[in-house]
Amino acid sequence: MQTMGLIGGMSWESTTLYYKIVNQVVNERLGGLHSAKVVLYSVDFAEIEALQHSGNWEVAGEILANAARSVEKAGADFLVLCTNTMHKVAEIIESAVHIPLLHIATATAIAIKEAGFTTIGLLGTRFTMEQAFYKERLSKYGLQVLTPNEQDRNSVHNIIYDELCLGKIIPNSREQYRCIIASLISQGAEGVILGCTEISLLVDQADSLVRLFDTTEIHARSAASLALQ
Ligand code: GLU
Repeated sequence: MQTMGLIGGMSWESTTLYYKIVNQVVNERLGGLHSAKVVLYSVDFAEIEALQHSGNWEVAGEILANAARSVEKAGADFLVLCTNTMHKVAEIIESAVHIPLLHIATATAIAIKEAGFTTIGLLGTRFTMEQAFYKERLSKYGLQVLTPNEQDRNSVHNIIYDELCLGKIIPNSREQYRCIIASLISQGAEGVILGCTEISLLVDQADSLVRLFDTTEIHARSAASLALQ
């Protein structure tokens, strides 16, 4: 089994999900007392969040590049960046180390293609929904990406930072997400990407009439499969 290097803490609420899923998958496959070989570097999310919102992506990228170097030195065979948004600086991280990065949008695009869908809704932070870095990677797989209108993008974004990253699960916010998912479906979405690693804390398949693609679950499962290859 290979050792995976998780770069987490963005937020820690979702990193705990990664840790649980990778161990569950390895145990399902190998049985007995088997568990995943993991190196985890968990950052202080307040520092990263401040840099994101002030547009200081280079500095945030350098913090994560340093985390990646530590994880590589600690023996990881590949990297798993436990957030969609920070894949904006994937190249800075990749160029700092010799081990590969398992990209969250690539893993998600492959899962969607396997399901046979081409038009897909995307929920995530405003950075993920509005900037090119994430949608372009999905487009490379032939996916047509739909995002909510501006007001809904703001609601999705604010619920992530003000509630989900703090572990606050509020029923009214779930209702808002349900409505936003329904409006993506009415625009033609055949499935919807939960493109932020905390969203599955709030909504699940019962909240949507089309299939949801939870990036946390997809990414963590891909990491476990890669480790066992
Ligand atoms: N975990 C979130 C994501 O998947 C948002 C937190 C962050 O900005 O990294 O995008």
